[in-house]
Amino acid sequence: MVECEMCGFEITVEKNAAVGELVACGQCGQEFEITGVNPLKLSKAPETEEDFGE
Ligand SMILES: [Zn+2]
Repeated sequence: MVECEMCGFEITVEKNAAVGELVACGQCGQEFEITGVNPLKLSKAPETEEDFGE
């Protein structure tokens, strides 16, 4: 597991997660992109316009 850099919540990442996948914090909803799996690394996903594009 890895801690959310925004709120410290422990984000569960699937063992078979792959680089480039997105995971969301279960507490604050911040999305992170998996940038490494060994060791596991997350970086804050860039804010997208998805919410405005549909
Ligand atoms: Zn969070």
